[in-house]
Amino acid sequence: MIIAENAVDLQRGINDFQHYCNENSLKVNRSKTKVMIFGKGRIPEAEFTLGEGGGALEKVKYFKYLGLTFSVQMAFTEHVFEVNARARQRIAYLYWRLPLHEMNLELVVNLFITYILPMYTYCSPIWSVKLSDNAVEALNVVFMNYLRRYFCLPKHSHRAALYYYTNTRPLHDAVRNLSMNAITKIAFPPDALEGYQLSFANQEELPRYNAEEEMSPDYPRERVFISRNKFYRKRTFRDLFMINHYKVCTTVKFHTTLSDSCRCIMCNSQLKRGHECCDKDYNTQ
Ligand SMILES: [Zn+2]
Ligand SMILES: [Zn+2]
Repeated sequence: MIIAENAVDLQRGINDFQHYCNENSLKVNRSKTKVMIFGKGRIPEAEFTLGEGGGALEKVKYFKYLGLTFSVQMAFTEHVFEVNARARQRIAYLYWRLPLHEMNLELVVNLFITYILPMYTYCSPIWSVKLSDNAVEALNVVFMNYLRRYFCLPKHSHRAALYYYTNTRPLHDAVRNLSMNAITKIAFPPDALEGYQLSFANQEELPRYNAEEEMSPDYPRERVFISRNKFYRKRTFRDLFMINHYKVCTTVKFHTTLSDSCRCIMCNSQLKRGHECCDKDYNTQ
């Protein structure tokens, strides 16, 4: 890898490298040689050549190096997407090979911590600090859907409530906090970095995630028993999350929490949890 702060220095570095290779009878694989120009905002144009004849080297917007996908603006959104894709594959494999639905929640969460979380903690001080909202969201969905699958809840089910009842927190919070711990363990000798400062050295700690604060007021605040039996667990949580609410609510617009405008299509009274109606066949939860 050749790094330079400007185009002239980089071309000089490439020439020196070519010279070294010639002297030592080494051949460079041109097709595998890429150029990446990093910068904030608009990326300047520049062409670079390697050896004689053969034209400009290919410029790329992303490059995977030591398991980290770099982008020209160091946003690491691509990195998150790439890790998410691998994590989803591994989660599918866990659900296929292990009887997760018959395990207790603690074990299911520990399996995630053991087999999935390390994919995210790898190099996290570098990539997890200044993620876009998009990337944070994509990250959180991976763990959220892992939980939803265990509880047989649909993809739109209310998140904060599930964090609350399972006593867990968003994946991004966990990754950020773990990365803070990782950094404070590194002790640099004075002047070791020649005046440079690590971008991730002085990051702020995230406020502790409070699921209860973000949970809709209509969700019960007491802890709910989580059965190891898939059937009972599914029934309890689909009731709790009112998965069938849309069937009896007069509000047609999609919603995941109860509001004052939720009315029963049968009796037109305001819908509350455990609403009992003239028609007993209706599951009003
Ligand atoms: Zn409603
Ligand atoms: Zn009713």
